[in-house]
Amino acid sequence: MINVTKSYLPDLDEYNNYLKGIWERVHLTNDGPLVRQLEDQLKEFLGVKYLKFCTNGTIVLQMALKALDITKEVITTPFSYVATTNAILWEGCTPIFADINPDDYNIDPDKIEALITKNTQAIMATHVYGNACQIEQIQAIADKYNLKVIYDAAHTFGAKYNGQSILSYGDLSTCSFHATKVFHTVEGGCIVTDNEEMAQKLHHYRSFGHQNDNYYGIGINAKNSELHAAMGLCVLPKVPELIAARKKRFGYYDSQLDFSKITRPSLLPGMDYNYAYYPVVFDSEETLLRVMDALKADDIMPRRYFYPSLNMLPFAFAPGSDTAQPCPVSEDVALRVLCLPLYPDLAEADVDRIASIVNMAVAIVPESV
Ligand SMILES: *Cc1c(COP(=O)(O)O)cnc(C)c1O
Repeated sequence: MINVTKSYLPDLDEYNNYLKGIWERVHLTNDGPLVRQLEDQLKEFLGVKYLKFCTNGTIVLQMALKALDITKEVITTPFSYVATTNAILWEGCTPIFADINPDDYNIDPDKIEALITKNTQAIMATHVYGNACQIEQIQAIADKYNLKVIYDAAHTFGAKYNGQSILSYGDLSTCSFHATKVFHTVEGGCIVTDNEEMAQKLHHYRSFGHQNDNYYGIGINAKNSELHAAMGLCVLPKVPELIAARKKRFGYYDSQLDFSKITRPSLLPGMDYNYAYYPVVFDSEETLLRVMDALKADDIMPRRYFYPSLNMLPFAFAPGSDTAQPCPVSEDVALRVLCLPLYPDLAEADVDRIASIVNMAVAIVPESV
């Protein structure tokens, strides 16, 4: 079976070497030496100033909202994983959905301003599939209305915009190190800032707001373990190779798919991309379902990602409303987009097979009923 993604696992002996050290030290968690080592290596790799390694890419979104004192309306994207919207709702804030632009499916800066009210405090946007949002336009709006900017950069590991890690933009940026992401620690995530005071605050948040005999205020448990850090230390040096292998397969799909009936989201100029996903968009949901059936018949499991458009989730409707906030572009794209399998050791023959199944399925003209 071929899945949409396959986690990279490092050499077992290498991981075992880290485990031996953990067994010798008997230091399993609580800001241990491997956690610190991984944080140092991540800061170096990404070229960012402060970075806190946490348990996952969702809790860091919640910490970001809390750290910036966001309690009211957050303008966000409907085209993301549900974790983005959940974080806003879990923190008791209200998600206000700005539609996406039809070229790259990132939040459309031109849709943001009309949604700003006296209760708007932040913009939380996702760099979809690892491609940067229109960062300058979003920052200009934030500056004009005095809003905070939080980026869900879960997809962006290793991707750069204008020569800088995408994680270095916004007031706070977060990443996921889940097993399915370009870089992973099995479960994990991080939050990035260039402000020392903010970094200290996040450090306290991560461990109950408690350090030694001091209680700095309300906190949560978002600490990650030495075993997870060890996985990260094994995977991180391989990231350039892994991205190069993804790029090769990405290019091969490009050369094999019939783009007379399929489109792909565009990349922002200035992007140094990480090839995190291979999304394709069909002319209709009907075509998408036909393609999915054809792939599944051959044990190939693509994924509808993202689906549904998050504004359509009943728990994300505006308070007191029983209808979705309208986002026609996102609603339409979510029905027609499919991520094809993409991972570093996906065989060329499998890309051939997937591409030919997709090409055949899109070429079928359904009989009218
Ligand atoms: C994966 C992902 C998350 C959640 O990350 P976890 O580490 O699984 O909690 C959040 N946002 C986006 C866009 C994601 O793709």
